[in-house]
Amino acid sequence: MIGNEKPRVTMDEITALAKRRGFIFQSSEIYGGLGGFFDYGPLGAILKRNVKNAWWREIVELRDDVVAFDSSIVMHPSTWIASGHVANFSDTMVDCKNCKHRFRADHLPSLAKCPDCGMKDTLTEPRAFNLMMQTSVGPMEDSASRAYLRPETAQGMFVNFKNIYQSARKRPPFGIAQIGKSFRNEITPGNFTFRMREFEQAELEYFVPNDGNDLAAYEEWVTARKKWYSDYGVREDRLRFYELTERERPHYAKAGTDVEYLFPWGWGELESIAHRGTYDLDAHMALSGKDLQYFDEASKSKYTPILIESSAGMDRTTLTMLVDAYDQETIKDADSGKETSRVVLRFHPKIAPVQVGVFPLARNKPDLVERAKGIERDLRAVARTQYDEGNVGQLYRRQDEIGTPFCIMIDFQSLDDGTVTVRERDSMRQDRVEAARLRAYLSERL
Ligand code: ATP
Repeated sequence: MIGNEKPRVTMDEITALAKRRGFIFQSSEIYGGLGGFFDYGPLGAILKRNVKNAWWREIVELRDDVVAFDSSIVMHPSTWIASGHVANFSDTMVDCKNCKHRFRADHLPSLAKCPDCGMKDTLTEPRAFNLMMQTSVGPMEDSASRAYLRPETAQGMFVNFKNIYQSARKRPPFGIAQIGKSFRNEITPGNFTFRMREFEQAELEYFVPNDGNDLAAYEEWVTARKKWYSDYGVREDRLRFYELTERERPHYAKAGTDVEYLFPWGWGELESIAHRGTYDLDAHMALSGKDLQYFDEASKSKYTPILIESSAGMDRTTLTMLVDAYDQETIKDADSGKETSRVVLRFHPKIAPVQVGVFPLARNKPDLVERAKGIERDLRAVARTQYDEGNVGQLYRRQDEIGTPFCIMIDFQSLDDGTVTVRERDSMRQDRVEAARLRAYLSERL
């Protein structure tokens, strides 16, 4: 928390809003749900897609040194031996012999007493639990068919390093980016979509020559990622870039930064940015016996490039956007002076699932309805729009709650003089705009 400040919003409020408005639902809810799995509803699916697009735009489309990639979720099992996941990707867990609940040992303040049932001396000795989810490939279910659902997307990019640089004709410094699902059998999933068992990652693997500029490249990526969060409006005082100390980093990493957000329960990691040396390519070369070094045509020499990685969770970033955008304020009606409270999601316009809501002043006036529907259809060319009708106060309330930056009202004056009212979400200011100018008006502001 910042000082003793009460959180602006609780996770219960976020979870309730997410369900009420169709952002996020518990997976398989009608069967009682499945721990650590979630579904994105009609608005949540767009919100998450917008977050992923915002990442992709910045990392891939607006650069000429990063190429796109999309690898399979199930890979050759040797991948996970080389990467160290088979041997080391585990958390230590303990079980309570009384209430049968399971905990991550490193999440407990003490191992003396169960935090759920409160009994003393009922926790088992900590033991390692591998977080990779297993499946089997092919018609026989035996140990030879055992495979894993990837716990990170990165390895697909390492094992394809040579295919990619040769086919894309890239030489270091250059990067490979991919967004995709990852799976981890988390011992204690929780905090809504923060810790899930199936989630999506956006990873950038940036390979640089071993010429002494590697730390500068790492710093550039930290700066670029800072700018991204700030461009999309994440509150500065709730975001921190925590630089890992030498003891906190893996032995092969020269530097590392965790990007953290201040959630209602405290700081949580959104992304990790790391200088990983040549560790990953070296590991795959050693186990596969294949050469993954870069061959420089100009100097006719080979070397293993150094890797700078940025690994961001798209579900955690989407959750951040929801929590960060949430606001509740008291507003005074200009005419009656009556005070009411409104919940508003102050999404960045590029992230907002709906950018423009369009309504007729009255749903029983065919002229108004037809005009409003026509305007909404026309604006689809420049914005994500939604037509709705009903009680005006409720329409605004609903659009505020889903974070729509602009609402357009078509009233009787619109039929006379061709103007409409545009209401801006945050200031609630209303502008009279010519309908013919709406595309330009919105394009400037979205
Ligand atoms: P944590 O310490 O929270 O378990 P981690 O350090 O294991 O995370 P990384 O392996 O660095 O996470 O993965 C990179 C990113 O992937 C994380 O910063 C996070 O945004 C996302 N991520 C990792 N595990 C999960 C999960 N269980 N649910 C949702 N997102 C996750």
